[in-house]
Amino acid sequence: MASSSDEEVQDPQSVTDIYYVDDTENNVDDLESDADPICAICDDGGRIVRCEGRCRRSFHATIVDGIETGCNSLGLSEAQIQAIDTFLCKNCEYNQHQCFVCGSLGSSDMLAGAQVFPCVDATCGHFYHPKCVADLLFPENEMEATECELMIADGESFTCPAHKCHVCNQEENKEVPELQFAVCRRCPMSYHRQCLPGEIVLDGAQEGVIQRAWESLIPERILIYCLRHEIDANLGTPRRNHIIFPEIPEGN
Ligand SMILES: [Zn+2]
Ligand SMILES: [Zn+2]
Ligand SMILES: [Zn+2]
Ligand SMILES: [Zn+2]
Ligand SMILES: [Zn+2]
Ligand SMILES: [Zn+2]
Repeated sequence: MASSSDEEVQDPQSVTDIYYVDDTENNVDDLESDADPICAICDDGGRIVRCEGRCRRSFHATIVDGIETGCNSLGLSEAQIQAIDTFLCKNCEYNQHQCFVCGSLGSSDMLAGAQVFPCVDATCGHFYHPKCVADLLFPENEMEATECELMIADGESFTCPAHKCHVCNQEENKEVPELQFAVCRRCPMSYHRQCLPGEIVLDGAQEGVIQRAWESLIPERILIYCLRHEIDANLGTPRRNHIIFPEIPEGN
């Protein structure tokens, strides 16, 4: 035992791995490398704070930071931001997360009757009701869906549907442009660039068509709103009522 830990200390790779498993707070660099570069409220960039909890989201923190993108922001003051050492959003602070399918808020406290459970993929950050995600994973097989639902409710790990292309069921490959993923911001729906339905139009397309896809906001990915979501004509995005925090701060 002692000799193997000596080896690990000499190998920087292993040391990183140890931190990754045991102490996420000491691993900020690794978390940031694939943290969400855009705000969860308005789906746009700028000066954002990253939640260091399980949701892996980022936010415009102050009213001023949100002005350019018409974002309500978290409404924090500059002084509040400066005082924060490790930022946790209210969902992560109180272990109350929304299901990424139905949107309702549930306890994600694994030690106290969790209702929503996190996808096991380390880059994901989405939570689900067992039934909501099981029905998506096995849309044509009720028995398998029920079995899957019970396993997830029992604490078994699962990978959510966002990590497979909805058309060909294969994984993302960031190295090959055609196999890069277009990922919906509002539900677990992903497509390869080459599998993207024609109705999900990228920028630069002809006039009079509703844009649903954007390049260059997220490295090596396309941001989309899939066809399940109605685009608000004024915002150019779906309505921004998709985020629910467990506690709405009084005042202001
Ligand atoms: Zn924003
Ligand atoms: Zn969070
Ligand atoms: Zn749900
Ligand atoms: Zn996932
Ligand atoms: Zn595909
Ligand atoms: Zn969607």
